[in-house]
Amino acid sequence: MNDLAVFLNALPDGIVAVSEQHVVLFANAAVYDTLGVLPGGMTGRSLSDCLKDQNLLMQLDKTGHESFLTLETDVNYPRKLRLRIKIVPLQEKSGEPGSPVALFIFTDVSRELSTAESRERNSKLETMRLLTAGVAHELGNPLNSIIMKADLTERLVSKLPDSETKAKIEKDLDVIVSESERLKRIVEDFLKAARPLSFRPVETDLKKLCERCLAVMEPELHSRDIAIQQYLSPVPPALLDEDLLRGAIINVIRNAAEAMPEGGLMIVRLETEGDFFKLSIRDNGTGMSEETAEKIFDPFYTTKQTGTGLGMLQIKRAMEAHSGTIEIKSRLGKGTTVTLKAPLRQSETHVLDSPEAE
Ligand code: ADP
Ligand code: MG
Repeated sequence: MNDLAVFLNALPDGIVAVSEQHVVLFANAAVYDTLGVLPGGMTGRSLSDCLKDQNLLMQLDKTGHESFLTLETDVNYPRKLRLRIKIVPLQEKSGEPGSPVALFIFTDVSRELSTAESRERNSKLETMRLLTAGVAHELGNPLNSIIMKADLTERLVSKLPDSETKAKIEKDLDVIVSESERLKRIVEDFLKAARPLSFRPVETDLKKLCERCLAVMEPELHSRDIAIQQYLSPVPPALLDEDLLRGAIINVIRNAAEAMPEGGLMIVRLETEGDFFKLSIRDNGTGMSEETAEKIFDPFYTTKQTGTGLGMLQIKRAMEAHSGTIEIKSRLGKGTTVTLKAPLRQSETHVLDSPEAE
């Protein structure tokens, strides 16, 4: 065994190197712990043939290895686990057939939740919860008054005869209104993150919900020179929490928009895949670095000057409440695709309401 293999076998994460055709070239010792298969039994076989968990298989089946990707999913095999899967395309390909083109890294994050670091992260979040809930709540009312008064003043000023002073006041009022509105959004984000999650699923037409989210965001997208292509297939009505999903979808759209400062193209696709819905939002914006992809779900992590770093957290909470997943596929300089997936649980009222059910 060479030194590198000894090193890889000492790591707690399952690591699998695959060829262009997804044939396993190498698997380290920890794949036994994370995937429940012996490393020796994997080499030479196609990766999907080695995966025993159906959910994981479904997640990885259609996944390519051309771009950096992180996703999290619950698996039942070898035991109940939350797995984080990272796909790392290898930059320097030798081009020879049978040479490695990508690494799949499987991390048991259910175990991670009990580490000191995440305990610290949770207590940080808990403290912030209490603090922000108080402060943000207090900020809401004065902010609303400021916005209202500025609106009124704007209307009064517009009636004054044209002058240089009038133009200057109008410009300043614009700044006051737009900055206060931004502040209001930040306060709302903090309040949402601070509130304990409530999950109230109702029968929902997801296609309509997506259309409504796009309609809300349309003016902002338009003003940013962003074109939207939407391919929304009807999805069977299912029990979903509309508020949580609306928040999640709008956050994904907003992040996509903010990643395209010079304008661009956003492609929104909604499909049914077995018993799941799959909503993907793709942008051709800045993409994200490996570091960002790693930290994207950390509370308060932001690369934006005016960001809160709470959007992804909100998306994650919403998807976890639906037993769903978020998949992020990103290439620096090329763009990002965020895919939300969750099971479409059918409402039981259908059964109760049917005439046979008397
Ligand atoms: P915020 O938007 O306030 O920065 P988020 O939690 O929504 O906070 O996002 C965290 C970070 O993830 C962003 O600052 C950005 O760096 C990155 N990010 C999220 N979505 C995208 C995207 N579509 N393209 C590029 N980077 C993104
Ligand atoms: Mg955001």
